[in-house]
Amino acid sequence: MSLLARLAADHPKTPAPVRLKAALLFAGVRYHPCLAEAADWAFPAYWPHQIPPGEPSFRGKRVTDVPYLVVFDDESQVRLRIKPDSPFIIRPEGEGYALFDGEARLTGLTFERKHPWTNALTADGTPMKSTGLSQHGDMLVLNAAPGCEYFVVPGEEGRSKNLSCTFCLYGVPDQRMKSLGQELFKVELPDSTLNHVVEAASHPETHARHLYLVGGSMLDMAQEGARYVQLARRLAEAGLMDRYYVACGSGALLKPHMEQLKALGVKGACFNLEVWDPAQFKRICPGKDHVVGRDRWLRALEEAVEVFGRGHVSTAFVGGVELEGEGAFESVEAALQSNLEGARWLIERDIQAIWSLHWKVTGKNRGDEPVYSLDHFLKLNEGLSELRHAANLPINTDFFCHHCAYMQLEPDFDRFIPFKPE
Ligand code: SF4
Repeated sequence: MSLLARLAADHPKTPAPVRLKAALLFAGVRYHPCLAEAADWAFPAYWPHQIPPGEPSFRGKRVTDVPYLVVFDDESQVRLRIKPDSPFIIRPEGEGYALFDGEARLTGLTFERKHPWTNALTADGTPMKSTGLSQHGDMLVLNAAPGCEYFVVPGEEGRSKNLSCTFCLYGVPDQRMKSLGQELFKVELPDSTLNHVVEAASHPETHARHLYLVGGSMLDMAQEGARYVQLARRLAEAGLMDRYYVACGSGALLKPHMEQLKALGVKGACFNLEVWDPAQFKRICPGKDHVVGRDRWLRALEEAVEVFGRGHVSTAFVGGVELEGEGAFESVEAALQSNLEGARWLIERDIQAIWSLHWKVTGKNRGDEPVYSLDHFLKLNEGLSELRHAANLPINTDFFCHHCAYMQLEPDFDRFIPFKPE
């Protein structure tokens, strides 16, 4: 039985296009030279691809760039993975491409293009791609202060402790901070940094609808809130609050800062809890646990609903991190039960719960495989869909949609299973 036929039999509650997207997330596609050719114009994957033995070299090379994201004909997206044992393959078709399962054609597709603004310069010659802005699909992500203070919490005798989240690589204080002028334990970002990133986000050809503000965490939540307010004020002055749905992806801010952000035009908030179970939260997110605390985090999400309104607040989870490392859940069933309990608590309070896949991050196989199985991920998403329907709380597509969800399934489920009109 083919993988898709098996999924249809085992997961009838998952719409067929979502089963295909999920299957690609896990099974990937086999290598075809058209993937290397497409890298001439497509947004490239972060790691180049080693061409397998038996396949011809590409332009004389054994290692080549390949696209990062597949865009289906219906404009939904999925991360491209290349796996030699996949049942799927992408081949050129006419001016575009198509996905095949063996010889059966499944759908037309293309790849996400390099966005024109990423090759542009700001007025003073700074590359826009170095301003802290990035883009996937129709979502711009603005990270002008990437260094996270949880990596260097002051400890005894002048030594610092690392209380960063166990899965996190992107918050490490490194050279990105220098070029952006970020200083740890200091709220304000330099004017030049704000000017550059606002100029990049103002580029006429971003083709984005959402602008998501993120950054490294600060040890003082009042300071972190003040930093986001500073950023939002500049965006508002530049007229970007009207152009994009701007959401704040910070830590659990204090309510007065949420109110200031709302007044400046920020429309949504996403304070990521990362993992639901209290013991796992302490284990996986020691900084969030120490600085904010889980109870305060949950209360801040409820306050965010009071400020931003129903449908405008979410929290994201790193799906699989609760099953990895010393102290992890012993069974996938226990993880699934805990996650669905958490989702119920949140969704009943109008807080949307979003699961991204966690990919193993240790050793040479970094990023190779998600921790969840395909069936586990589908079961979780079927449960989430049922909870959203029970509460009549669809994913707000102004905030997050199938044009940008390349590793999540929630917006895809909601497209195919209609909600009751409000
Ligand atoms: S709060 Fe956690 S996930 Fe966020 S940047 Fe810091 S260590 Fe990374």
